[in-house]
Amino acid sequence: MAWKTLDDMDLNGKRVLVRVDINVPMENGVVTDMTRISRIADTVYDIQDAGGKVILMAHYGRPKGKVVEEMSLIHIAPFVAEELGVPVTFADSDYRDAVKEMVDDEVLLLENLRFNPGEEANDPEFAKRLATLCDVYVNDAFSAAHRAHASTEAISKLRPSCAGRLMEEELSALEAALGKPKRPVVAVVGGAKVSTKLDLLGNLVGKVDHLVIGGGMANTFLAAQGINVGKSLCEHDLADTAREILAKAEAAGCEIILPRDIVVAREFKAGAASETVAPDACPADAMILDAGPATVAYIEGVLANAKTLIWNGPLGAFEIEPFDAATNAAALAAAKLTKAKKLISVAGGGDTVAALNQAGAAADFTYISTAGGAFLEWMEGKELPGVAALNT
Ligand code: ADP
Ligand code: MG
Repeated sequence: MAWKTLDDMDLNGKRVLVRVDINVPMENGVVTDMTRISRIADTVYDIQDAGGKVILMAHYGRPKGKVVEEMSLIHIAPFVAEELGVPVTFADSDYRDAVKEMVDDEVLLLENLRFNPGEEANDPEFAKRLATLCDVYVNDAFSAAHRAHASTEAISKLRPSCAGRLMEEELSALEAALGKPKRPVVAVVGGAKVSTKLDLLGNLVGKVDHLVIGGGMANTFLAAQGINVGKSLCEHDLADTAREILAKAEAAGCEIILPRDIVVAREFKAGAASETVAPDACPADAMILDAGPATVAYIEGVLANAKTLIWNGPLGAFEIEPFDAATNAAALAAAKLTKAKKLISVAGGGDTVAALNQAGAAADFTYISTAGGAFLEWMEGKELPGVAALNT
């Protein structure tokens, strides 16, 4: 697949409308994490350097088609100005006049798109209203690309369209991991439940060479093989599904890696007494809360022979010590191989990003996607409407 980028567009003297994700956390009127704002900087600067005028549009929170004062982007505008070092003007509804009055180095930020019901409805009329503001449309919000909304899908049909720098970076990282990856490819899928990741597992077994299944969802697979998992988190009703996934993997030549030893405890709290036992030796009154060192050693061996890693979901209940051990060790092993240029490593998912940060491994990964839902849908092999709209 190929996407147009800023380099393919003539931006000189053009009004460029950019869909961004600046849905940043805010407390008492102050943005507490500027990451999402700082990540749109290259797109803004490159458009300005090419002679274009930047108009930003975004959503904030979930106002559900109504004006909700606390969710106005007027509160975010000063932080965008500060972070990007450019003057930012805010336009609440008279978009057209505001656009006419723009001066060259000024950035115009439009009001929260989701104040208008037309945004989430992918309404062609609302898209048309947005399109009349610009000559070129740029999508730089991968994290919103799994939704077909007026600002991510309908508008792309009305103006020449391309990917912004952040979208470009995200798409190339994801292509490198699952599109045309260097093999062998290892996927690590963990987390709480199989039920939330069925499509993901189904897609991956047909695409990767080794699939590590960890976290609570591994218990469902162990139980499906007739193993007693005691009081562990387990979806017994998904035993058939788990067996189907195992069969599909076998047919596809994908090695499924389940825990080879387990860490069990009777309480789910920090520092709870725990022991490492064989996968089929979970006491009836205990829970499996992490994979053990033999599992980690095996995963390290697989990673050492792999060229590509894609990771979603922790291997254990990483929020609570000592059940973060397997996740931390596997993450650090992947980080080390990546740093040594032996592995391409891509990870995403809310808890996964938190776990990799906590392990001190995130900085050495090739790419960490912060786009929760969009990253998962992409890993599931689904077409993202906002990305499909940019296909050449
Ligand atoms: P992500 O947000 O990265 O997609 P998930 O939300 O699927 O990840 O999974 C993260 C959650 O899974 C964490 O809250 C973690 O505590 C939980 N988890 C992992 N292993 C276990 C386990 N063995 N038992 C219970 N919960 C687990
Ligand atoms: Mg989660």
